[in-house]
Amino acid sequence: MASETDQHAATQRPATRAHAVQVETRARVEFKDITGLVQKLVGDSGVQNGLCHLFVPHTTAGILINENDDPALQKDLDNFLKGLAPHDGDYHHNDGNCDAHLKAAVIGCSKTLLVEGGRLVLGRWQGVYFCEFDGPRRRDLRIKIVAD
Ligand code: ZN
Repeated sequence: MASETDQHAATQRPATRAHAVQVETRARVEFKDITGLVQKLVGDSGVQNGLCHLFVPHTTAGILINENDDPALQKDLDNFLKGLAPHDGDYHHNDGNCDAHLKAAVIGCSKTLLVEGGRLVLGRWQGVYFCEFDGPRRRDLRIKIVAD
């Protein structure tokens, strides 16, 4: 009887878990390492195998997967994107943050990661960055963890 109940509970368990997380940024441009935050939500979800979707509902912020070992790379990313979209460039969208929109367009606002063995699948040197291009602000990050 107990095992029947357990089985029933297992089949009723939600296969997805959604989170709305707030991310505080402290500079106009910031690459904030959120790998630990996302990994914690994946761990807490109890999902062993599945997918983790990340979505940034903003037009001047993005989500990036790249090296999180050497902090100097963040400066190079900043300089690279500044080269593509300088803050004082000649833009049609003239509310003062067109560079931030363009940087967000290059980086993108969503990623999907694999979850295996209750952990994000990331390479040895990879981390997940929340990318702020028009901060400092309090930003939203949507995360959905879906079991296989
Ligand atoms: Zn704008």
